[in-house]
Amino acid sequence: MLLLNTYPLLVSEDLVFRSKKTTLESSVSVMVYSLSGLDQLNEENVAAALAVAEESALSRVLVTDSTGKVLYDTRETGGAVGEYCLYTELVQALLGNDAYACSYRRGAFRSRAAWPVLYQNQIIGAVYAYEYDTEQAALLEGLQGNLLRLSAVIGVVVLVLSLVLSRALTRKIGLLQNAIRQVREGAYSHRANLPGQDEMAQIAREFDSLTDRLQTTETARRRFVSDASHELKTPLAAIRLLSDSILQTDNIDPETTREFVSDIGREAERLSRITEDLLRLTRLDSGVMGQPEIVDVLPVLEQVMRMMDLVAREKGVELTYDAIGGCLVLAAKDEIHQVIYNLTDNAVKYSAVGGSVQVSLRRAGEEVVLAVADNGAGIPEEDLPRVFERFYRVDKARSRAAGGTGLGLSIVRDTVEKRNGTVEVRNRPEGGAVFTIRWPLARGEEES
Ligand code: ADP
Repeated sequence: MLLLNTYPLLVSEDLVFRSKKTTLESSVSVMVYSLSGLDQLNEENVAAALAVAEESALSRVLVTDSTGKVLYDTRETGGAVGEYCLYTELVQALLGNDAYACSYRRGAFRSRAAWPVLYQNQIIGAVYAYEYDTEQAALLEGLQGNLLRLSAVIGVVVLVLSLVLSRALTRKIGLLQNAIRQVREGAYSHRANLPGQDEMAQIAREFDSLTDRLQTTETARRRFVSDASHELKTPLAAIRLLSDSILQTDNIDPETTREFVSDIGREAERLSRITEDLLRLTRLDSGVMGQPEIVDVLPVLEQVMRMMDLVAREKGVELTYDAIGGCLVLAAKDEIHQVIYNLTDNAVKYSAVGGSVQVSLRRAGEEVVLAVADNGAGIPEEDLPRVFERFYRVDKARSRAAGGTGLGLSIVRDTVEKRNGTVEVRNRPEGGAVFTIRWPLARGEEES
């Protein structure tokens, strides 16, 4: 606005100065031309010469002789004829220079020009013209007034707009701040819900989706903690009950005592299985994984099969496998062992006496595929998507009775996914369930 109020005015002022210079100098030059034929100047011959060329638009015209004495003055009252005049421009002209000056003051342009009058290259006098112009000045003042009014209007509009915008912005920031505070204090269901498409609304949407994730994680965490404490509480309560019974029963016979103590042992074992699985999951959650190496799955699978063969035989389940070598996976040996063990253990555990479990290991394109199939009861369709959740069991009593913790499949899924693999489960049409794991095939040294 400062520029708006100064630059156009300065430019117009300069334009007026220039145009004044041209008109004033042309007037002066006409008068000088009228006097140029004279060999010397005196009051009479100057008045006679200028009577023809007199310029009415000028406010004042002075003609002096070479000493600066005024010979002619257009000012009617208070004229300076006969006096010596020492206006700066006039002095300049008498020294042989063309002089011009213009100024703008108190609503008027005052311009002055003076030229020497020569006769045979001798300065015989000077012509001085003065113009006092309020017309152009009024135009300029009008322009100045308009610019000021325009600036005032722009200023008010800008002020109002910035007030409105800043209010809208602070209101949105306030809402977002409030949402952040609420969520920080634990109200994970609170959302900022800012309408619109501007940057603040976008930030609010990002914040809301972050809160969604936080809420999901928090819900899962709470459920996990409550499930875990419940799982730990059950065997502890059983141990307490059994030991109290031993202590409080008088003359308890050794047979019953042995039975109770063996039950206590079984519950303790269960506790340690749960804590082991919990620790394993915590390690997986924290992202601390062993350094991966290229592992051939076949020897690991054979080792698990040897171990499980005894368990299966004891249960009257037939365990067979069909595997090839060269199925290389970038992982840690223990992880692969754990995954195959958990799946095979489940398959045997949930098979009926006389059932069969088939494990297969093969390569399919750029993948290593491990499948564990059984011909047990399978998993109800509605439970299929949930069996990988922590502590989720289709049949709680059966899982407990079989020594399950409800964490085996979560460990399998987390372990496999950490190595960029996938795991899926479906029921077989002929009965039973099949779990399939796909790992990306690692390139061995001999193959690369
Ligand atoms: P659990 O320790 O109870 O076996 P898991 O996480 O290993 O826990 O398995 C979760 C649930 O999935 C089991 O409780 C069981 O109901 C079901 N399940 C797992 N594997 C099988 C299978 N091969 N056949 C039928 N049900 C299975």
